[in-house]
Amino acid sequence: MSDCCSAPGLMLLDDALNTLSAGVTPVKETETLPLASCDGRVLAANIISPMNVPPHNNSAMDGYALAAADLESSDTLPVAGQSFAGHPFEGTCPAGQCIRIMTGAAIPESTDAVVMQEQTEKTENGIRFLKTPKPGSNIRRAGEDISEGCIVLTAGHKLRPQDLGLLASLGIAELKVFRRVRVAVFSTGDELKLPGETLGHGDIYDSNRIVVTTMLTRLGLEVIDLGKLPDERDVIREALVRADNEADAVITSGGVSVGDADFIKDILVELGETGFWKLAIKPGKPFAFGKLANSVFFGLPGNPVSATITLNILAVHALRIMSGEVAAKTPSLKAASGTRLKKGAGRREFQRGILSTDEQGHATVVTTGSQGSGILRSMSMANCYIVLPEENTGAEVGDLVSVVPFDSLLN
Ligand code: AMP
Ligand code: MG
Repeated sequence: MSDCCSAPGLMLLDDALNTLSAGVTPVKETETLPLASCDGRVLAANIISPMNVPPHNNSAMDGYALAAADLESSDTLPVAGQSFAGHPFEGTCPAGQCIRIMTGAAIPESTDAVVMQEQTEKTENGIRFLKTPKPGSNIRRAGEDISEGCIVLTAGHKLRPQDLGLLASLGIAELKVFRRVRVAVFSTGDELKLPGETLGHGDIYDSNRIVVTTMLTRLGLEVIDLGKLPDERDVIREALVRADNEADAVITSGGVSVGDADFIKDILVELGETGFWKLAIKPGKPFAFGKLANSVFFGLPGNPVSATITLNILAVHALRIMSGEVAAKTPSLKAASGTRLKKGAGRREFQRGILSTDEQGHATVVTTGSQGSGILRSMSMANCYIVLPEENTGAEVGDLVSVVPFDSLLN
């Protein structure tokens, strides 16, 4: 594990991500579900197309189907019949004649082109063609979208509405998907009260748990909300043991730093094999990852912005792998900074920004303002991270900076 050159003792984010990847394994159990229940689920097997799409040669236009060579002797052909979507012309088109055809309708036998209606004229002797088509014009070939036997989607793909449409077009009614990962979540802290309760002196409301559980639900996991725990060693230990029995992963927030009431560390050392990481990222320096008897453990920092960002960047990376997902790398882009950005060298910063495009269509980003790790409003105002690398020491107005738009868990 390499230390960051300018932040000795802190683990680089890429090293942390690699350690997480190596430390978790995908679930093995699968289930077979109807297509309509598969949005957000992860495919457990490759999908091989059982058929051609489209299944038959069909017309791309409303017009007339004909044999292109027939127009060499006459520009006008009588109409021998019609082919509508779902009601094909049965039989063969007689030589020297044409067939009225609608978009999506099967191409009649012995025709090889479609002329769009707008390029024809009705006459007493039949249809006059104002243009001579090339064979194949305006015909959508069988299998031109998907050919029978090809791999349409691969195992590990997380299904989206358009994927389900693609699979429906192949006549597939059910899919084998990985079972959902079960995650137990709780927050820790004697100061925490639930929204709706009255705050005593020194209390705050528990905001982390709703953020964490909602993001995990969006990720498609089965979330077990275990509530909030006091800063009491025995209570936390008991809750962790219970969570470990019920879930594939356990996520806590708070209690992972070095304060006197930060018990998570001691308990985990006792229960399992856990690493406490000081990461070269900001916000989110303290983060814990390890293994309990049956599950993996992620200890998020208590500060609300740190908790959200470490969940989004670190824990979710591991949970996607556990879900069987083969995730694509999050896309980033360059945007001109519309505001000055302050930063010290050492840690990679995930500042919160508002990304937009100016009148010329250029991407610009402005800061949400104060970037303290407790300022949850900075997350609420933002639609992206402004990612400033370890060595960066800030940006001036107009400088190009890296921006990562919020993913579907935060947007
Ligand atoms: P800790 O890591 O427990 O020392 O917490 C760091 C900071 O985050 C403290 O100011 C806590 O009050 C705050 N905090 C911890 N847990 C939560 C939570 N669930 N919701 C909101 N703030 C929290
Ligand atoms: Mg605490």
